Amino acid sequence: MLGLQTPLTELRGIGPARSRVLAAAGFERVLDLLFHLPLRYEDRRLVARVAGVSGEGSYTFEGRLRGLKDIRVRRRGLSLVRGWLDDETGSMPVVWFNRPYLRSQVDEGATYVVHGAVRRRGSRYELGNPTCEAVEQALHGGRVVPVYPAIGKLGSIGLRHLMARILAALDLEALLPDRLPPLLRERHGLVPLAQALREVHEPPSEADLERLNARRSPGHLRLIYGELLELQLELAILRSHETRVEKRHRYTVDDRVRKIARDLLPFRLTKAQKRVLKEIVDDLQTPHPMLRLVQGDVGSGKTIVAALALVVALESELQGCFMAPTELLAEQHFRSLRQLLGDRYRVGLMTGSSRRRATLARDLARGRIQLIVGTHALIQEAVEFQRLGLAVIDEQHRFGVAQREVLQRKGSRPDVLVMTATPIPRSLALTVYGDLALSVIDELPPGRLPVHTRVVPEGERGAVYAWLRRELAAGAQAYVVFPLIEESERVRAKSIEEMGERLRGYLRGHPSAIVHGRTPVEERDELVARFAAGEIRVLIATTIIEVGIDVPTASIMIIESAERFGLSQLHQLRGRVGRGRARSSCVAIHGELGENGERRLGVFGSTTDGFRIAEADLDIRGPGDLLGTRQAGLPTFRVANIVADRDWLERARADARELLSRPRDLAAEELLARIAPRAADRYERFAGG
Ligand code: ADP
Ligand code: MG
Repeated sequence: MLGLQTPLTELRGIGPARSRVLAAAGFERVLDLLFHLPLRYEDRRLVARVAGVSGEGSYTFEGRLRGLKDIRVRRRGLSLVRGWLDDETGSMPVVWFNRPYLRSQVDEGATYVVHGAVRRRGSRYELGNPTCEAVEQALHGGRVVPVYPAIGKLGSIGLRHLMARILAALDLEALLPDRLPPLLRERHGLVPLAQALREVHEPPSEADLERLNARRSPGHLRLIYGELLELQLELAILRSHETRVEKRHRYTVDDRVRKIARDLLPFRLTKAQKRVLKEIVDDLQTPHPMLRLVQGDVGSGKTIVAALALVVALESELQGCFMAPTELLAEQHFRSLRQLLGDRYRVGLMTGSSRRRATLARDLARGRIQLIVGTHALIQEAVEFQRLGLAVIDEQHRFGVAQREVLQRKGSRPDVLVMTATPIPRSLALTVYGDLALSVIDELPPGRLPVHTRVVPEGERGAVYAWLRRELAAGAQAYVVFPLIEESERVRAKSIEEMGERLRGYLRGHPSAIVHGRTPVEERDELVARFAAGEIRVLIATTIIEVGIDVPTASIMIIESAERFGLSQLHQLRGRVGRGRARSSCVAIHGELGENGERRLGVFGSTTDGFRIAEADLDIRGPGDLLGTRQAGLPTFRVANIVADRDWLERARADARELLSRPRDLAAEELLARIAPRAADRYERFAGG
């Protein structure tokens, strides 16, 4: 008897080769495979009559095979079997390619379910390469047939066999009792879990094909709802923990603090910045620790909002920390925060290379340093604060990571502000993050000119670089970006250096530098710093031109092989320019485009609105692209799709709130008890690791 955890290697029909293929794709246990759902379904319920065939197409028949003959073919690697299919209405010629053992596998005279493509051959029809199965066990014909996405070399037909064998040997009802509270199951008219899983693989004979293909069959809905409800419950549990903790520190927000903040400001805040700042300051004043996500498009001015919130902390005799994902960004933030706040507060920078770390740590512990800037990792590591009030985590869209970072700060429970430019469509962010607090800066500072964007084919590269040379001569500063060098792409790495060098030769007279993944970190940081200082005029780089780099004097971004970048990534890269007063340009140079590439670059060329880009990105990547959603920092699901299943996401969210807020029955208690410990695990997955 099979169990859900049985290794696939123990299944009949899975030898070493297949199990390697499966393992490589992440399928190791029976349960993994059960969640490999069909991509679509074909209606092969209708059994046709041979005499009734009236056109080409795919048909299922029921009949006997007769006169099977191996045909000699001269071409090597090709074998043919010919014969006849008879039913009570007539006969049709059949041909099989490369099925050398077919004759030993079928019984002439026995009745089979035969499914295949009918083609016209001269004046008559012929059936090509059909499957033949005993009537009682027909998998490929005579029913609604699931079509599976291939796993490596294991195609849909092989998977159909495998799945049928598994389902026949599993007592799903016993192994997967449904734990959904009956109240919810009834509310949404959902079938039990075991039935749902069975039916998505083996649709019942009366199934509605359209609903199956729209992932709206009863089975699909149960699976989708189940996944979404779990996520929403985890988020709600997390939130209820947050609101139970009392923080020990308090903030003073009065006219004095407001005036100080105003006087520090080098410009007027946008309306959106003001609104978000107010949301943050309101949170600071509640008795519970804040955990707030600030979303804002690249260049929307998140840093200054965080800086002002930090002023509130520092004026309240509390310490603050500002964490960036890389040292380069930490240094950049340190420079701008020191410029902004350095006259009034003691601001420190903590880097891996700084020799003064011990001194810094001591100063922090004693409260001599009020604001510390560093990388996420560094500040996590054994740093003691005297009175930490507010922690800012920059460019961290992975909420779970942030959550862990905070919780790891045993003892002190600071308020936490997480900032991200990750474009999650507004319509989705709230539901996806559940009840976690979200602020959106949906406005750019005034006077920003949209980056003028051109998308051009490789053939125009010469003209682009000639233009670049003219612009450089006129005083412009530029980035040229190549796609990331992957480990396996040594050859390409070489060619990027070669291309880079050739480009440098062509741009002779204008100081330039190449940085890529293999450039030592210190050297890379130094080159970027010299670029920021204006000494280097062209920075030729792979995508290590990180998120968040702020060099307002740079006004040109050229992206090579643009078809290899995702839409959000392109948008992030473009966000490196358009930060100063000069009119900026972005040129995306692309090679051959697939259909999706064409759509991506079409959207990229036609809008600079990050949220519209995000919507389009999710649209184009479509349902089921786990990697895609992972990149966007969203949780990944096995069945549910946050875009296509938005309506169910809403329902699950409402149900989760209700479950937590009301007296619970036993089923609800059990469900919560099962989910609570998994919240942490979910957040690991949030991290996309
Ligand atoms: P991001 O949201 O991408 O982190 P930054 O905080 O780096 O954006 O801000 C981008 C640039 O815009 C910075 O140079 C910053 O000084 C400037 N800036 C931010 N807010 C305003 C504003 N209200 N008016 C003018 N410039 C602003
Ligand atoms: Mg930023």
